[in-house]
Amino acid sequence: MRNPRAYCPNPDCEHWRDPYAKPTLPPPPIDFYRKDGYRRPKHNHQPVPVYECKSCGKKFSATLVKPIRNQKRPDLNRKIFALAVSGATVRRISILLGCDRDTVMRKIEYLAGEAKKHHAKAMAKLAKEGGTSYVMFDELETFVHARHKQLSVPVAIRVKTGHILALCVARMPSSMKLGGAGIQPLPPGGTNWTYNDRPTVVPGVFAQLAPVLKPGATIATDGEASYPKWIKQALPGVRHVVAHSPKETSLGRARKRATGEPRETDPLFAINVLFAKARNDLARLGRKTWTTTKSRKALENHLWIWLAWVNGYPVK
Ligand SMILES: [Zn+2]
Repeated sequence: MRNPRAYCPNPDCEHWRDPYAKPTLPPPPIDFYRKDGYRRPKHNHQPVPVYECKSCGKKFSATLVKPIRNQKRPDLNRKIFALAVSGATVRRISILLGCDRDTVMRKIEYLAGEAKKHHAKAMAKLAKEGGTSYVMFDELETFVHARHKQLSVPVAIRVKTGHILALCVARMPSSMKLGGAGIQPLPPGGTNWTYNDRPTVVPGVFAQLAPVLKPGATIATDGEASYPKWIKQALPGVRHVVAHSPKETSLGRARKRATGEPRETDPLFAINVLFAKARNDLARLGRKTWTTTKSRKALENHLWIWLAWVNGYPVK
């Protein structure tokens, strides 16, 4: 393999350039380094060519500029990516792969970062192509640590492809007794969970959509009272459609099946089915589960990995 890095990694060397910044100096001469044998990484023992700078003697190899630089087990990345969106918990992934829980945690953080990079590129590409004309938006409810510490996950999708365009995590005031809103004294074990990040986070998600919406695009949401105000503020000129999913019981469904009566169509089907998939794919989002979110940051990282999975980004 030819060395893709045409720079010396030693900052004191004349051939050094910052590979992540915009180049200001001309690239160093093509023959500023020589080949100096191979090294064998511990994880796969495949030889990687090592090069040596002729000016300062610094040794370097091609992996230096790849996202997996400094990783001891890059072979685990793809497996952890697949398992994390297949209902496996951190503990279970570490058992299945025979690695430490901290390794899994660290890799999930890294994979989330990679997912963000891929997503930024994909959104820029979509904006360049002219954007989309129909977007659906809804919020998925979950919690951190205990059910009454409620969180909301606002998600916007492109209906045509089913791809996720934007998502975030916000705290919302608890609607449960243990959440303590207006309840004096607080029940034992309760938390005064009256935080409300939604008025800043949800308009933030709408604002992220602005570059990828065609002029006169449509956004469909449910009838939440604040949406019209927030959409008007963040997305001026965008048509807002309020739709309601039919309330259907399993008994009503069975009756319709028996009588042959058609079921009502769900105008928000695309996003509802995506949320149903999320509750299946991410153990922590399940309706009846022993798995809980321990921190908002971890939930956010996990959601980013899931976004990469749904949108088909080649994260590794
Ligand atoms: Zn050098």
